[in-house]
Amino acid sequence: MHDEGVIKFECRWEKTPVCSIEGVEELMQCRDELFSRKLIGVYEDGIGYGNISLREGESGRFLISGTQTGHFEKLSKDRYVLVTAYDIEHNRVECKGPVQASSESLTHAMIYGMNPAIRAVAHAHHNGLWKRFKNRIPTTREEVAYGTPAMAVEVQRLYAETDLKTKKIFVMAGHQEGLVSFGASPREACNILLNLYET
Ligand SMILES: [Zn+2]
Repeated sequence: MHDEGVIKFECRWEKTPVCSIEGVEELMQCRDELFSRKLIGVYEDGIGYGNISLREGESGRFLISGTQTGHFEKLSKDRYVLVTAYDIEHNRVECKGPVQASSESLTHAMIYGMNPAIRAVAHAHHNGLWKRFKNRIPTTREEVAYGTPAMAVEVQRLYAETDLKTKKIFVMAGHQEGLVSFGASPREACNILLNLYET
């Protein structure tokens, strides 16, 4: 049904203590709010879904909730990881922290790459919202699989051709239940999802 963790993905992980960046408290607060609405969570088969990240200052690096942390009601600082480099073409990331980054980090990376003003990204799963808003808000084409170079191109296309730049949220038709929002802060990215959830 869902395709989490299926894509071949290479993560070069340096195990280190907590990497803290400015704004991490807001990031953590937003992540737990998304969890409380099951926009981030875990499927019955134990596979986690959804993640949230924050750009480190003006850099291309970002702090993201770690892989397979969807079952934690409150996600502590030691379950976040800093993505320090990535290669969308070859499905590779480098990261450091107490836990590993997920393959979905590349979805975040491609969004940061579009505009330096984007400072936070949230990726949620929700069947109801996905069905309801697919093709009603900016939507990536169904044949484009998540976590692929083609998805990066597709999101750039939406950014150029639709009102994604102002709406700051899109549905991934080719990624079951997947939605992505972004903004100048974790609060903005989170609230865009919560507003959709509450409509
Ligand atoms: Zn996903």
